[in-house]
Amino acid sequence: MAFTFSLAATGKGINPQPLPYPAPIEAPRDVPFKGTLSLVVDATDIAHKLFAVREILPVQASGSLTLLYPAWESASHAETISVANLAGLFVSIDGKSVDWQRDAVDMHAFHINVPVGARAIEVEFQYLTRASDALMTPNLVDVQWQRLLLYPAGWFARNIPVAASLKLPPGLKAFTSLDVDGASDDMVAYKPVSLEALTDSPVYAGRYWRQVKLTPDGVPTVRLDLLADNRGDLAETGDDLSKLRQLLVQTRQLLGPPHYAHYDAIVTLSDAFPAGGIEHLESGEDNLPANYFTDNAEQLNNLDLIAHEYVHSWNGKFRQPADLWTPTLNVPMRDSLLWVYEGQTEFWGRVLAARSGQRTRQETLDKLALDAAVVDARVGRSWKTLQDSNNDPLYMAGHSVAWRDWQRREDYYPEGVMLWLDVDAIVRERSSDKKSLNDFARAFFDVGNGSRITSTYTFEQVCDALDRIVPYDWSGFLRSRLDAHDSSVLDGLARMGWRLVYTDTPTATFTQDEVDSGVIDLTYSIGLSISSKGDVRVASWQGPAFTAGVAPGAHIISVNGKPYTSDLMKAAVKSATTASIDIQYEADGQTHAATIPYHGTLRYPQLERIAGSVDRLSGLLAPVNIH
Ligand SMILES: [Zn+2]
Repeated sequence: MAFTFSLAATGKGINPQPLPYPAPIEAPRDVPFKGTLSLVVDATDIAHKLFAVREILPVQASGSLTLLYPAWESASHAETISVANLAGLFVSIDGKSVDWQRDAVDMHAFHINVPVGARAIEVEFQYLTRASDALMTPNLVDVQWQRLLLYPAGWFARNIPVAASLKLPPGLKAFTSLDVDGASDDMVAYKPVSLEALTDSPVYAGRYWRQVKLTPDGVPTVRLDLLADNRGDLAETGDDLSKLRQLLVQTRQLLGPPHYAHYDAIVTLSDAFPAGGIEHLESGEDNLPANYFTDNAEQLNNLDLIAHEYVHSWNGKFRQPADLWTPTLNVPMRDSLLWVYEGQTEFWGRVLAARSGQRTRQETLDKLALDAAVVDARVGRSWKTLQDSNNDPLYMAGHSVAWRDWQRREDYYPEGVMLWLDVDAIVRERSSDKKSLNDFARAFFDVGNGSRITSTYTFEQVCDALDRIVPYDWSGFLRSRLDAHDSSVLDGLARMGWRLVYTDTPTATFTQDEVDSGVIDLTYSIGLSISSKGDVRVASWQGPAFTAGVAPGAHIISVNGKPYTSDLMKAAVKSATTASIDIQYEADGQTHAATIPYHGTLRYPQLERIAGSVDRLSGLLAPVNIH
């Protein structure tokens, strides 16, 4: 049937027309704020897992005022704070209750009217945590100020002074990079800092803790703040501490003098928090497993977390992508340079963990093999570039990804490692091995004479900084990698004198990665990661199992006629060169039989020297005394 779109049906009065939007929220301006915002957070109600917030804002002017609840978190590079957790909001002015009106478009904005002659605005609300947030447990409380305040629209966050204080449950001691102004039995008052600095300075409070000064006198202090769920997990040894001290020495030699007055590596030893870290200028949140110090063999994939977060003080916090920096926590960030912010931090994390002895040389090679294999198997590059993957936090945060190798997700971490390995190799190659990325790092991060004022950069400035180390078409090279649809991503490894190979035996690092994920990882053979019960967690896009019809969520019942076990599955893959892999699996309540079209054997990634080439990688990983 032919259809002709009739222009006669358009026109006002016939079809709906959009209503104009309300006036935009007042934009932040770089102007002074009079007085100090007072913020009191009561974190004692662990039973109900809620924070009670009370604020007093000095009135700046009469008339309409918008109070903003933060939405964007710089460390997640995304809009990850939800006002849905805020409840019980009451506002009063000079003791008299007033009504607020939520903005019709921005749910994080609350409008009030300030009468002439008013002096102070009082705000009260609760932040209701979800059990999965794990922000409040009997032995650990995690205070993220950016979720615990409203602030007035119209000012840059760096211009609003905040005097924060914190009420804690009895027996819990607070750790933070904030300087203490005064403390009573259950209340800590912090010296006023800007809203920008406050929201970059979380507090962790714990019942079982230990604090160790890691730095010698004469350099800005770095404290290791250990907080555990169980006293017995505070089991760091002299060897652990000396490796951490080496990490600080190697990092400062690489990146130059720090841009903090002092730094707190806040390490939680708890299985209540998912393993991972969050960076700040003057502190790092290092959420590690409870057994981090008691079971070294299980930490192979966690050994550079503290290094990663520490590097972020320079890369990400002091130097920040110009399009990521925003004047407040309610202005959208753009993530186009996360391959520098996160990618190079991940790279230096790997390198510094090796240089400081956190990982042995072999453990580092095995970790890099894992990075290389992940990157090599990212079939999604055919439609989605590394550059586009930089946008992932902006729309994927909090969303699960069914087909990770096809959809990609935050690939700027492992692909960033391979990219910067390539840049390092090119610098070494083109300077006859006289220069390296060490020289770039020193030049790029040691600017401003130890300044603590954020220094932003653009893509062009990264290229210029590289060009000053070794002249080259850096823009052309980086664009070719960022916009690539092929797998030239491993070229750098070859320039370093190494190649990715697959063997039938997993490295200890690979095996630990399987344990951490609760799977057997057959990604590089049949294209599946499977739990011990036979649940398919990951299936490689268009891999052998995919071709046989298997998808994530399927449950494998049997392998070659016998009930599923991990060992049986591995044995079947091992002998697939001569025998077929017949499985029965259940999906959507139906049972299916399939033969996985795979005729290789077990395959696990590993790095191998390219005979006769220069071993630049070993040069990169060796401890150095650069300056
Ligand atoms: Zn990071």
